[in-house]
Amino acid sequence: MNEWDRVERYLGQDALAQLSQKTVAIVGLGSGGGFAAQSLAMSGVGHFVLIDDDKLELTNVVRHVADRRYLGMPKVEAAADLIKQRNPKASVDAVIGRLANHLDKLDGAVLVLAGVDGERSKYEINVAARARNLTAVYAGVYERGEGGDIVLVHPDRGPCYACWAERLRENVAEAIPGETNLDYGMIGPDGTIAAEPGLWLHVVRVAAAHADRALNHLLLGQPIHRDEPANTVILANVALEIFAGITIPPYSAQWIEVDRNPRCLVCGDQYKGQMSLEELTGEQSTQELGTNPGLSAGNIADGQRDS
Ligand SMILES: [Zn+2]
Repeated sequence: MNEWDRVERYLGQDALAQLSQKTVAIVGLGSGGGFAAQSLAMSGVGHFVLIDDDKLELTNVVRHVADRRYLGMPKVEAAADLIKQRNPKASVDAVIGRLANHLDKLDGAVLVLAGVDGERSKYEINVAARARNLTAVYAGVYERGEGGDIVLVHPDRGPCYACWAERLRENVAEAIPGETNLDYGMIGPDGTIAAEPGLWLHVVRVAAAHADRALNHLLLGQPIHRDEPANTVILANVALEIFAGITIPPYSAQWIEVDRNPRCLVCGDQYKGQMSLEELTGEQSTQELGTNPGLSAGNIADGQRDS
């Protein structure tokens, strides 16, 4: 009996074979990253690099794929075990530490899934992914789990994460201090990130779309691959008004296209990625990141936009 029968009949034999050869790097194995790791393993992805310096604590258990049996264990080792329980053939490189000290671990990957919460960590991934020509997928969960968003960033077109965050995250600089060990970044009304109250079932709706967009990218070239309407999707768990006058009903989604900022300090024409992370995340830089109106929201409901 082929245990992958249900997946293979959906994806196709070639697509499943393709996924089994792919390496995904997941940075941050909290609620979102852990769920994404397990979901990608259950979809047939064959190789994982997991990077996180945190251990599973009691307060994580009600919002994590790993339960009490994994208390005190590094989150990467808990996630590695959960991956192996679903796909014993998967290879997992579990790296206990911070991305900055293990950048070489990204070298064999074809995609980075950012499971981290803080903006600084996302900026680190942005710089590292661009340097290696890796596509990266980022997610954020809004305050109290009321919704969230996912952006897929190509290394060579469209916005980088810094361009994107300048438009979709307010007061980015304020989100940076002390953000290292939070639980799947829920973003407050002023743009700051804190370990917000919220339910697992609301987080994982965003995390499932996060993993699905990563999976879809890994399926490029296969009939099952879908073109996406734009680079960013906003998911509502409750009614959300992200843009003035546009209410997104509960359980629905809105796609938006965020443009590249030509004055971006990471990917802009005059900088070419020469700025240090400290310069990029300082307040001065945040102000300097540009004010180009690059966001378009009203004209995307028809799904005709091409990313
Ligand atoms: Zn940029």
